[in-house]
Amino acid sequence: MELLQTPAEAATRVGTRIESVETYALKVPLRKPMADATWVRPTWTVPVVEIRTDDGLVGTGCSGVHAGEELLCLAVQDYFAPMLLGRDPGDIRALWHELYWSDIHWVGRGGVVHMAQSMVDIALWDLAAQRARVPLWKFLGTHHSSLRSYNTDGGWLNRTVDELVAEMSELVEVGWDGVKMKVGKPDWREDVERVRAVREALPAHVALMCDVNQGWDLRTALRVLPYLEEAEVEWIEEPLHPDDVEGHARLAASTRTPIAVGESIYSREAFSQFIRARAVGVVQVDVTRVAGITEWLQVAAEASAHDLWVVPHCGDMMQVHQHLVAATFARKPAMIEYIPWTLDVYEEPCRVERGTVQLPPAPGASTRVRADARKRWQVSGVGGRVDV
Ligand code: MG
Repeated sequence: MELLQTPAEAATRVGTRIESVETYALKVPLRKPMADATWVRPTWTVPVVEIRTDDGLVGTGCSGVHAGEELLCLAVQDYFAPMLLGRDPGDIRALWHELYWSDIHWVGRGGVVHMAQSMVDIALWDLAAQRARVPLWKFLGTHHSSLRSYNTDGGWLNRTVDELVAEMSELVEVGWDGVKMKVGKPDWREDVERVRAVREALPAHVALMCDVNQGWDLRTALRVLPYLEEAEVEWIEEPLHPDDVEGHARLAASTRTPIAVGESIYSREAFSQFIRARAVGVVQVDVTRVAGITEWLQVAAEASAHDLWVVPHCGDMMQVHQHLVAATFARKPAMIEYIPWTLDVYEEPCRVERGTVQLPPAPGASTRVRADARKRWQVSGVGGRVDV
């Protein structure tokens, strides 16, 4: 695209204007279908928003869903876009506040509307970093220059014990020192057997995380956790229903295994309740589920103030989170989950070598979509474009 201004002019100009807002969605096939305690899926869908400004820049925001991509795009296009056109994209926090308290606040303080707001917010931060001509992690103020990742691209419930052990061992052989497996089989004894088999097969220094995907009730969780403690599990993720703050607090008080929650928590207020109730040890705040980078930073700040570990769930498949964790104070090791389902979508895919994230050098939030990816995977009939 031809720039209307030189980058230097764009960088010094105060007050650009949003000229158009475009949404679409990509349905990306997965290499292997997988299952956890709640679902089985062959694809992952990436809803996208592109916000164009009168200085020729394009900010891109993305999300990640199993279903409902048309709802996210619709919320952006029909409700948020009219509020954005003609506005200065640099007024990120003012716009966040206006979108949050817009007419659809009452039908979507969490879930679809909140996730749609995240797409917009990510696009605005992408624009701001592009305008400053630095990658977002530098724009936000670098804290960590290198990040570890733990691998969650395996360990699914639909694997046999032998397949599971082989899969986890292969991940360690190619360089990861942290891996995650799903638990939540109908008979909890089977979970214990699977965890023990994997733990025995892995070297002692490798961290093993377990994810229940809300599959237990408190009674089951209290029964199983002593076994997972014995297996030195690094954390237990989403053991209970994500609204059950009290249940998580009781569980946390009963075990030395840290409780991880966040992928199903949609607001800083809800995170704050978990943190104040001592119901969470690992804060997995996901930038696509809370309303964007603006809210993510607030959750991370509160977690940091309580000396909690922030290791985000990556609904964006790492693209934005690599920037955020590199710029957060939450205690070491700085880490994100490795889940490479959409690397082929982006012009600058997240690069991970032997478990270490190579932070991206290009300006922005690493969200720009490849033209050929759009051509191959765009979902017909979803999204649209609104111009000034
Ligand atoms: Mg999870």
